[in-house]
Amino acid sequence: MINKELLRTQSAEFAVELNDEAAERFDIYAKLLVEWNEKMNLTGITHPDEIVTKHFVDSLVVSRYCDLQAGTRLVDVGTGAGFPSIPLLIANPHIDAVLIDALAKRLTFLQAVLDECGLSARLIHGRAEELGRDPRLRETFDIATARAVAPMNVLAEYCLPFVKIGGSLIALKGSDDDVTPAADAITALGGEITLTQAYNLPNGDGRSMAVVSKISQTPTKYPRKNKKITTQPL
Ligand code: SAM
Repeated sequence: MINKELLRTQSAEFAVELNDEAAERFDIYAKLLVEWNEKMNLTGITHPDEIVTKHFVDSLVVSRYCDLQAGTRLVDVGTGAGFPSIPLLIANPHIDAVLIDALAKRLTFLQAVLDECGLSARLIHGRAEELGRDPRLRETFDIATARAVAPMNVLAEYCLPFVKIGGSLIALKGSDDDVTPAADAITALGGEITLTQAYNLPNGDGRSMAVVSKISQTPTKYPRKNKKITTQPL
């Protein structure tokens, strides 16, 4: 279904080399995405070349900013149809990935993708702000990542409680998202913005990303309940 050469070339532009097995798994993923999208709302992007660039390569950008070696614990908050975590898992099958989403039916799709691709990850149905208080998850991850979930001050409250000191949050944002207004919120949550970068996808679409390093423990009062987070954002 997908043009594997296009996938390989575009991934290489972001320093990700894909072997045959990975390319085959991306093909399976794309087929399932299009097939399941007919019965549930997963994505507005269905052209194979656009799936490659705007979903797969866009997600793989995360690996430019962290070391995804075997055993690295990564949590994808608000994973939806699996972005960015499933592409990261396909390219780095030995990471220890946890995918979280508030919508249970999306996890049914993700389990099918994992099964068909022969990959393993933990899928958790729930809200980030509740799961971030669970001691089995809190401050246990090397990397938290999220794409298109919430503005940075809200996203930081969802994600930073999961990250252990020394780890980081890598947030994929649109081209005109300025994260600096969230700096005080990030500080309150034990983080520090260490990098922001604007770049273009291979098709020219603009994107930006931010790396937030976890430098101290998140105070136990965070994350707050959803209503507080959205009505009184940090
Ligand atoms: N990250 C995916 C992507 O880039 O394609 C999905 C983006 S979609 C716009 C946002 C997703 O975040 C939805 O699947 C939604 O259910 C989930 N979400 C939003 N807020 C959440 C929260 N507080 N906890 C868990 N999931 C959440």
